[in-house]
Amino acid sequence: MEVILVPAFADNYIYVLRDAASGKVGVVDPGDAAPVQAELDRRGWSLTHIFLTHHHDDHIGGAAALKERYRASVVGARADAHRIPGMDVALSDGDRTVFGEQTARVFAVPGHTSGHIAFWFEAAETLFSGDTLFSLGCGRLFEGTAAQMWDSLQSLRALTDQTRVYCGHEYTQSNGRFALTVDPANAALHQRMEEVAELRERNRPTLPTTIGMERRTNPFLRADDPGVQAAIGMDGAPPVEVFAELRRRKDHFRG
Ligand code: ZN
Ligand code: FE
Repeated sequence: MEVILVPAFADNYIYVLRDAASGKVGVVDPGDAAPVQAELDRRGWSLTHIFLTHHHDDHIGGAAALKERYRASVVGARADAHRIPGMDVALSDGDRTVFGEQTARVFAVPGHTSGHIAFWFEAAETLFSGDTLFSLGCGRLFEGTAAQMWDSLQSLRALTDQTRVYCGHEYTQSNGRFALTVDPANAALHQRMEEVAELRERNRPTLPTTIGMERRTNPFLRADDPGVQAAIGMDGAPPVEVFAELRRRKDHFRG
């Protein structure tokens, strides 16, 4: 499965997918129709599927126009059916959805929003995590609790190491500045930040990342790590409480 990054707005990524075997073309979280349209035109592709991770405007804003133009099928969370217009396929945790020769498993990942889902394409080992898991960070808690978000992140953390992670925003460098304050002795994090700095200097995306990389470097996946716990003075505390404290600190972080 081919994945193309389409930058939108200030720091969003929209993803265009193509399953080579079937020729099906999908898009994940088209907050804006225009850049997607331009990418499809350039390649001479027609759209069949629109995958939506959550109801925020910067993720669904272009969906209606693209659906109208291509008669593409809108795939989203059943829990968000009341606030995502035009949903054709409504999915719940553990469901599978077919995209050409690919199958995606759906994870309900509440926290950023209550209905947020992530799509894991099994054979391609590719995750679309929306605003739940970012590289070196996680989404703000707008509609969910820290406990819900910690559960959600643990279910994504359990995916295969080599799973490529495509998230909703280019936040990696600013996330990393915070990460260094709560995991300062993590050599893998320092090394990743050097790579990130180089990429950003050349205006290149820092994505995809991988689950293995995030498990080693993302403090929000490391609330049960002794090094992180020690660095914030919470040795031996329940991971969910450590996670909540990390999220609170990040909310107030000015890097
Ligand atoms: Zn969002
Ligand atoms: Fe967003």
